[in-house]
Amino acid sequence: MTKPFIAGNWKMNTDSRSSVSLAEAVAARTTGLAGRQVDVALCPPFVYLGPVFRAVGNSSIAVGAQDVYFQPDGAFTGEVSVSMLKDMGCTYALCGHSERRHVIGESDELVNKKVTAAVSGGLLPILCVGELIEQRKAGRTTEVVTGQVKNGFAGLSAEKALAVTMAYEPVWAIGTGLTATPQQAQEVHALIRELIGRIYDSRLADEIRILYGGSAKPGNAAALMQEQDIDGLLVGGASLKADDFIDIIKAAV
Ligand code: PEP
Repeated sequence: MTKPFIAGNWKMNTDSRSSVSLAEAVAARTTGLAGRQVDVALCPPFVYLGPVFRAVGNSSIAVGAQDVYFQPDGAFTGEVSVSMLKDMGCTYALCGHSERRHVIGESDELVNKKVTAAVSGGLLPILCVGELIEQRKAGRTTEVVTGQVKNGFAGLSAEKALAVTMAYEPVWAIGTGLTATPQQAQEVHALIRELIGRIYDSRLADEIRILYGGSAKPGNAAALMQEQDIDGLLVGGASLKADDFIDIIKAAV
């Protein structure tokens, strides 16, 4: 059985104090659970990665970045490389979060470069995919998600692909309070697993964890986690409240 994985995406929230107190609370209150029964990662803003890494201390909570650039170094003002993130203690990096795709305008091609650079540099990417509400209403969810998955994995060997965690995040459910029903989410998770099986093989498809993201909260976490192909949750808003995030972690085991 796959170990569940709960990741908190703090987005552009918290400050130097609250990032540390939130990380300390999550670490202190998930001892014996995090790392053993469930993998947990916190993805704070870039500037708080160092303090958050120190705050989680020698607990089993991992730290992740919300984005990463694909170039190793050089004249790329404002960007942060894989080696910089590793240097700050990061294990994971989100790639292609819907806010990067739809607010900042990242293409599938750029997301693929980020995933490839992360894996090559030993950082574990969390590749996010998901359809807009108009695309779902137009019956295009399968087509959109298929394209994002295929393009996201383009050029990755099976060995490298194993380092990827997938996150299905329907854009209409992110930060809106609207959650996909467990059945709606399961349908797309099964599609993603089938696609990975077709690109690589069924063993790899079974091993890759697929997280659901989109208004996950304590009240819906257990029901989502019961679905066969939902291996964890990528949590935005609810990861900013220690009590809610810890309840979600507990609901995953
Ligand atoms: C996210 O930011 O990845 C997310 C799922 O946000 P929320 O849980 O707030 O919908």
